[in-house]
Amino acid sequence: MATPKSIPSCIITIDGPAGTGKSTVARSLAERLGLDCLDTGALYRAVSLLSLEQDVPPDDGPALSALAQTVELRFDWSDDPPSLWVDERNVSSRIRDLDVSSRVSDVASQPELRAILDAEQRRIAEDHPRLVTEGRDQGSVVFPDADVRFFLDADEAVRAQRRADQMANRGDVVDEAAIRSDIRNRDKVDRSRAAAPLVQPAGSIRIDSTHLTIEEVVERMVDLVHEQISGIGGSS
Ligand code: C5P
Repeated sequence: MATPKSIPSCIITIDGPAGTGKSTVARSLAERLGLDCLDTGALYRAVSLLSLEQDVPPDDGPALSALAQTVELRFDWSDDPPSLWVDERNVSSRIRDLDVSSRVSDVASQPELRAILDAEQRRIAEDHPRLVTEGRDQGSVVFPDADVRFFLDADEAVRAQRRADQMANRGDVVDEAAIRSDIRNRDKVDRSRAAAPLVQPAGSIRIDSTHLTIEEVVERMVDLVHEQISGIGGSS
């Protein structure tokens, strides 16, 4: 039977709204299956940070796409999780701050920028063909032919609490009301935008993590991936 460890290429996508634990789940799933892991939200966050710093309006798609092309955005895969660099600067931590979060969905609504970052994600998948990739449009737009596509969801209150816990663990000051409103606003923009709106891709597997631990979600995904990949029938 073919397994993720034995096949040369295996793309698994995880989409879903903010605070569902996608990044943690994706990293853990990738580790269990021996795959690399791509956090596509980090790319949008990096451009959002640059737009803040360089006073580029978050709704100016052509200027944002030009901005993304004037810098080198690159993951350092030797870090775990991979760190994200803008030219010579490691922005991995800075891009998680609330000022970046609260503008990123407007930035990510711009089709000109999405075209640039979609191409970048597909290029990364060529270099890392055994990949768990997470975001909002991975199974719907960027990798519609992925081997397994998941949609991870959870109640809004639970998602806000998880994000607050995550920030507290990083030692950040936590404003729960601000986090909840950030999550609500981002979901609204992500779901209603014209370009690659957040949707559950047709044919994807929905997992509601409201009452599940991260470990339980990952366990369920590992089982499902083994079921799906065994059907590929490639060489083992
Ligand atoms: O996953 P994360 O919360 O870091 O994503 C930040 C934002 O980037 C999302 O709220 C969404 O607006 C945008 N995004 C996107 N498409 C992706 C990944 C993220 O539009 N594939």
